[in-house]
Order: sequence, then C-alpha cells, then structure tokens
Amino acid sequence: MRGRPKMDDSRDKQYRVRLNTEEDDMLEYASQVTGRQKSEVFRNALKEYYQKVRVAEYTQEDDYDEDWDMGGISLKRVIDCPYCGAGNGMDFSEDCDTSSDERQMGPETTYSFDWEDCECCSCGKRFRVSGYICEYPVGAYNYEQIDVEEYADKEE
Ligand SMILES: [Zn+2]
Repeated sequence: MRGRPKMDDSRDKQYRVRLNTEEDDMLEYASQVTGRQKSEVFRNALKEYYQKVRVAEYTQEDDYDEDWDMGGISLKRVIDCPYCGAGNGMDFSEDCDTSSDERQMGPETTYSFDWEDCECCSCGKRFRVSGYICEYPVGAYNYEQIDVEEYADKEE
C-alpha cells in the first residue's frame, strides 16, 4: 500500500443518472426549496430508501417483533389546480382502494383513488383527480401516476 490512506468517506464512485424533464424539474425544485445541492438531494433520497429497504428486509425474518408498526407511505400530495395553478393539499388515504400482491420482500401495495369532484381552494373551480400510488417494499415509495382533469363541459 502506497500513498495516503483513503478516507473511509471519500466519494470516489461516480454514477451518471439520466433524468427526464419532469424528474429534472423535481430535482431543481427540491434543491431550490431546501437550499441543498442536487447531489445532496440524491444522497439523502438514497439513504432514506436504504433504511426503508433494511427495515423491510428485517421484517421478512422469522423472529422480528410483529407488533412493530411499519406504518405506510404518505398518500398526501399537493395537487396543482388545472385552472389557476394553486396547490391543493390532498390526503388520498382518506378515500382510496387498496390492493396487494405478494412479492420477494413482502407485499406490494397499490392505493388507487378517483376523486371526481375536487374544488380548488383558491379559484373554487372543480376538477377530478385520479390515479394510484404504489408502495414496495412496505414503508417505501415505489411509483405513482396521478392525473388531473378539468371539467371541460361544465362552464359556470
Ligand atoms: Zn384553482
């Protein structure tokens, strides 16, 4: 071994991650609002995900404490009004259908919802929010699809 010993935490691994425009917008937003560098946003997301996967793997073991409440992922979202753009806070856990598939690390759960008559908190117009949020492993976000539709034929 020659040269200076490496610090344990030296960051000498590099990944190139491709993002689409939507994902890039998310990164830009998260970075700006939190004042954190984009690389830091990635690292934090990774650490959080890592912990969730560890917990999920742990609960696959036979001797784990079944009383341990895993909680679920948050189904709270801020939905932009399709008319005025105002953010509307919604918690889809209030009204959703839950379906579950058994996978390698326990259940994969899909929460689907169809909120037909939402009223914007700012402009008062109505719109429909539908979609699903998928959780896998338990406690960890997997993916989601949320659609917002105007009531085009309901002129007031
Ligand atoms: Zn609005």
